[in-house]
Amino acid sequence: MTPLPAFADNYIWLLQDQQRVLAVDPGDGQVVLQWLGREPGLQLDTILVTHHHADHTGGLSELVQATGAQVFGPAMEKLPVACTPMAEGDTLTWGALRWQVLDVPGHTAGHIAWWAQPEGQTPILFCGDTLFSGGCGRLFEGTAGQMLDSLDKLGRLPADTRVCCAHEYTLSNLRFARAVEPDNRALADYEQTCKGLRERDVPTLPARLGSELEINPFLRSRMPAVRAAVTRHSGAAARDDAQVFAQLREWKNGFQ
Ligand SMILES: [Zn+2]
Ligand SMILES: [Zn+2]
Repeated sequence: MTPLPAFADNYIWLLQDQQRVLAVDPGDGQVVLQWLGREPGLQLDTILVTHHHADHTGGLSELVQATGAQVFGPAMEKLPVACTPMAEGDTLTWGALRWQVLDVPGHTAGHIAWWAQPEGQTPILFCGDTLFSGGCGRLFEGTAGQMLDSLDKLGRLPADTRVCCAHEYTLSNLRFARAVEPDNRALADYEQTCKGLRERDVPTLPARLGSELEINPFLRSRMPAVRAAVTRHSGAAARDDAQVFAQLREWKNGFQ
């Protein structure tokens, strides 16, 4: 599994199965074509898309034209190329992998995620801009309640799932997470680990889902320590879990 850096902080994830290559959310076609050019004999044949934003779809037309790859994307969103529409419950077989589609609205209204369990390896999750290491996507089209449900759904996947996020936002997310949970020891340790990786220009991803459950405030918004911090910051107790989540997300939006 290869995270190809694109733009300022995107990753275009690539998977290889013998001569076949699968790409996820290719916002930049040139980055993928240059990689393929350095790997003679490999053929991009499948592209998975999580949501319609340009930094995830900008390379689709160029890649389809250059390679003839087939595109599989969210049924409820419009992409710049023809794609096979996918929604929760749908599966896609690619080589030995069977991808399962999850609906995860919140960042966009029709955002989907892709999960598969390779034989003899830990599972893989492509979650686009829904879940980041230490954070989650902004609520552009969905509600806080939808995003909370989507993160709950991802949080129930096997703990050893490799979380392949679409952006390297980890360090700035962890700075916020530390403001929310200053006494979380696992979080402090994880931040040190990630700082070490970034100093050497190594991706912090994939993250391990079980670790995210220990350190990511957006997966932990029902924990007493997180709730208390949100209440202190917003100055008013929330009615319900969705409102706690909304206040947490707003806190992050304004966090410097
Ligand atoms: Zn996005
Ligand atoms: Zn993005």
